[in-house]
Amino acid sequence: MATSSIPSLRAEFAIPQRDGRDLAYFCGNSLGLMPRATPGVLERVIEQWRTHAVEAHFTDADAWMPYHELVREGLARLAGAQPSEVVAMNSLTANLHLMMVGFYRPSAARRKILIEARAFPSDRHAVVSQIRFHGGDPAVDLIELAPLPGAHCIAQEQIDELLARQGEQIALVLWPGVQYATGQRFELARIAALAHRHGCTVGFDLAHALGNVPVDLHAADADFAVWCSYKYLNAGPGAIAGCFVHERHARADLPRFAGWWGHQQGTRFLMGAEFQPTPGAEGWQLSNPSIFSLAPLRASLALFDRVGLPALRARSLALTGWLADAIAAELHAHLEILTPGDPQQRGCQLSLRVRAGRAAGRRAFERLSAQGIVCDWREPDVIRAAPVPLYNEVEDCRRLCDALLAHFETGSE
Ligand SMILES: *Cc1c(COP(=O)(O)O)cnc(C)c1O
Repeated sequence: MATSSIPSLRAEFAIPQRDGRDLAYFCGNSLGLMPRATPGVLERVIEQWRTHAVEAHFTDADAWMPYHELVREGLARLAGAQPSEVVAMNSLTANLHLMMVGFYRPSAARRKILIEARAFPSDRHAVVSQIRFHGGDPAVDLIELAPLPGAHCIAQEQIDELLARQGEQIALVLWPGVQYATGQRFELARIAALAHRHGCTVGFDLAHALGNVPVDLHAADADFAVWCSYKYLNAGPGAIAGCFVHERHARADLPRFAGWWGHQQGTRFLMGAEFQPTPGAEGWQLSNPSIFSLAPLRASLALFDRVGLPALRARSLALTGWLADAIAAELHAHLEILTPGDPQQRGCQLSLRVRAGRAAGRRAFERLSAQGIVCDWREPDVIRAAPVPLYNEVEDCRRLCDALLAHFETGSE
């Protein structure tokens, strides 16, 4: 199969082992593996601190003052954005709140937020609390679009219909690039165009999309987007997150919760009382960023730049295609794939449900874990497996299928 024609960068990653054998690691959608270059970039920051202390803000090529700029271009390439449209800062949920301060401006007639049903809890908590903050009632103002009865995924036509019906009451459409539970990928440009036609602002949560599928935020005309960097971006636990603000809002007078790091760089240290935002996404920064949190992102983005997203996507389509085909051919009696079968409607993750029910699903999952095959479990009954094109191989997928076959066929079910 075509996967072998595009080599992985597996050798550039630390692959955890158990009993002297590499784990078959399918959890890059939850915490990406560590690039081998990461300790070096972190040690460099420690060395700067040890030898230069406060002067490390200005001294050398890796000076801390403009350190966030070192990841700007790489993030922009992955996000399909102009460099001035992206910034690395804070954490995902914090950024989502900051974005909603500017982009969720409910009025009496238009005050609803549209999200997908069973959205990631943090996103739901964020929008519910924003609605309450504005004096709204989530029972009325939050619309959660569920798949049609019997379906696992949301049809694009449902979004079209909903916006046609209720678009005039919707202030904000907040939609995932790739849905975390089902692995369904959405057409961002189509959703943004529709939302705008109905006068809604539109933001995307790219937690499961960035570094996984091609994203073109600028061309899609998104108003804003947010993401985290510890999943497909391999920047480590709690890594600095990111944010996109479309160029057309670069100088807009939107409400924002401001901090000194968003103030124009040239005059920031004049310590003036008036806030003058940096035009573009950087104007939304609050604080000086954690250099320890930014440094690993540099090591990871360098790997993305080495392969390029088109080649990575080609490898991903082949690898996930291989796994989906093998599951359909060998495990159909036991497993249902909830993720769309159309490769364009998914990234690398497949969400699997054991047909025999939740308890059987849990047993299968635990059996895999015991053998060093690391997937994850998402309540109520989903096993997620993400073959990540940067470091997973067909052999990992083969191991997963063989282990599941052995499990289901030893009569334990
Ligand atoms: C992973 C994930 C989060 C996590 O939020 P943090 O603020 O990074 O803890 C939020 N939303 C979605 C959709 C996610 O996939």
